[in-house]
Amino acid sequence: MHEFVPPQRLLLGPGPSMVHPRVLQAMSVPLLGHLDPAFLAVMNDIQTLLRQVFATTNRFTIAISGTGSAGMEASIVNLVEPGDAVVVGVNGVFGTRLATVVERCGGKAIRVEAPWGQIIEPDAIEAALQRSGPVKAVALVHAETSTGAWQPIDAIGRFCRNHNALFIVDAVTSLGGVPVEVDEWGIDVCYSGTQKCLSCPPGLAPFTMSERALATIKQRRTPCQSWYLDMGLIADYWAEGSRAYHHTAPISMLYALREALRLVEEEGLSARFARHQLNSAALVAGLMALGLAPLPPVGHRLPMLTCVTVPTHIDEAAVRSQLLHTFGIEIGGGLGPLKGKVWRIGLMGESCAEANVLTLLNALEEIGIRSGWVSTPGVALQAAARTYSRIH
Ligand SMILES: *Cc1c(COP(=O)(O)O)cnc(C)c1O
Repeated sequence: MHEFVPPQRLLLGPGPSMVHPRVLQAMSVPLLGHLDPAFLAVMNDIQTLLRQVFATTNRFTIAISGTGSAGMEASIVNLVEPGDAVVVGVNGVFGTRLATVVERCGGKAIRVEAPWGQIIEPDAIEAALQRSGPVKAVALVHAETSTGAWQPIDAIGRFCRNHNALFIVDAVTSLGGVPVEVDEWGIDVCYSGTQKCLSCPPGLAPFTMSERALATIKQRRTPCQSWYLDMGLIADYWAEGSRAYHHTAPISMLYALREALRLVEEEGLSARFARHQLNSAALVAGLMALGLAPLPPVGHRLPMLTCVTVPTHIDEAAVRSQLLHTFGIEIGGGLGPLKGKVWRIGLMGESCAEANVLTLLNALEEIGIRSGWVSTPGVALQAAARTYSRIH
């Protein structure tokens, strides 16, 4: 076999996103032992930087070894014991996955459903809490990557407090792209992934937990069914002063995350959020000019993930294939009931740039002209350019 050289790609799908060269470089420096004091300092830096992006003072703020789904699994498997009821918002793939994990832990998932593309109304969560008797937790997806819906979160922590339930939030796609206010919104467990708006390769799940959630874990009647994701054991590795071996930390991934978080810090969170807003506004203007309308209603559209309905006269899969093979651009197709019906365009982290928006719109126009569904060349670029000139 010969050396693998990946083809050039512009990653504008639902993740992974483009990675800054500084992050790739960080992954190629020599290893340290996972208990080396120099490496423990790297872990401390990551904890400090993660507390900033999560907007929390939580002592327990770490990076779990594993992708975003490991963060999801850790949050459920540590808190939910057999028989526990959990209210889960289900309006896409990731809410569905949360409910599945709850049931695999022997819990009872009380699904509060909404059509794919819509948000879960906060009042529906409160109503479910009122009629359900004792509930261990409420679990919601902040940024539903399968539909592009932006879930309102800020009021729900209060409902959870009133009903003595913990509040679990999936911030895999939202963290680093829109505000995630763990302390202010009363979130008890929040997890994310590295490969979306943090623009780091997949492999770690940033994770933070309140003292209330930690106390709940300490009072478990049964041991956590997962040894690998047992946060009680993992706490002993991350906590300063104990640093007990649990599993070998993925050293190079943690180097990468430290560098990716340094880039976030250098840009500043509010500038980063504004960049996501601006580029998504230009993208949506361009897509609308091509007759491609976002699925979620105005006001509930994620800036980092735009899910548009593809009209039936456009060959959805053929366009994605042309984008990839002719232009080297990756976008995502639909999942589950949206398969073949939507495109999911990600502008996450490093991928979120004016040049990338214009490159994609230009490629779509060119494909549309060749296939006959674009008749006025330049409409999408003009609409995007107008957005940029209005705001710049
Ligand atoms: C991507 C994603 C996940 C899962 O992350 P993986 O890194 O694929 O394991 C979970 N929740 C949401 C909202 C996601 O977008």
